[in-house]
Amino acid sequence: LGPERAAQVRDLITDVPDFPLPGILFRDITPLLADGPALADVVEAFAGVADGVGSVDVVAGMEARGFLLGAPLATRLGVGFLPLRKAGKLPPPTERVEYELEYGSAAIELRAGTLTPGARVLLVDDVLATGGTAQAAARLVEQCGGVVAGLAFLLELVALGGRDKLRDRTVDTLLRVE
Ligand code: AMP
Repeated sequence: LGPERAAQVRDLITDVPDFPLPGILFRDITPLLADGPALADVVEAFAGVADGVGSVDVVAGMEARGFLLGAPLATRLGVGFLPLRKAGKLPPPTERVEYELEYGSAAIELRAGTLTPGARVLLVDDVLATGGTAQAAARLVEQCGGVVAGLAFLLELVALGGRDKLRDRTVDTLLRVE
């Protein structure tokens, strides 16, 4: 995205205070998804990221908004899409990675047998916040025998330091806010 288009796309992401919890500033991409040209430009920009990380054999998206951006990207690239789901959504057998949240823990899963060992995977999500979800997703891909080619996000919340957790990896973000 050029600077002008990036600013327009940024304006299609609505900042909602105190959702889903007090103190959280939620970045809602729904208006962006609803705007055809903006959605197409975002998918095209992600395709540019994919070009920059070498070959990509499959796109994987984090539930749930990573599905909405990752699946059209996979179609654009002519590759398949793997949903990384919250625990308990996929039928067994699954591969699972547990990770720590600020309070408690969470887990993400991938349907066993859907990732070809050695495949180069581009991970996609809407927002990079603390990086915990993305780090778990990268580990899950590797646990299944995949290679993480890179991680791509629409919006990076820079102040939350997610990049530090992913510092050994290739991370691209289309938009950044403090
Ligand atoms: P994190 O693991 O902290 O990097 O959080 C990333 C995941 O939570 C992504 O799947 C995001 O969709 C979601 N997320 C975290 N913070 C926000 C936020 N402020 N607005 C919207 N989504 C968020």
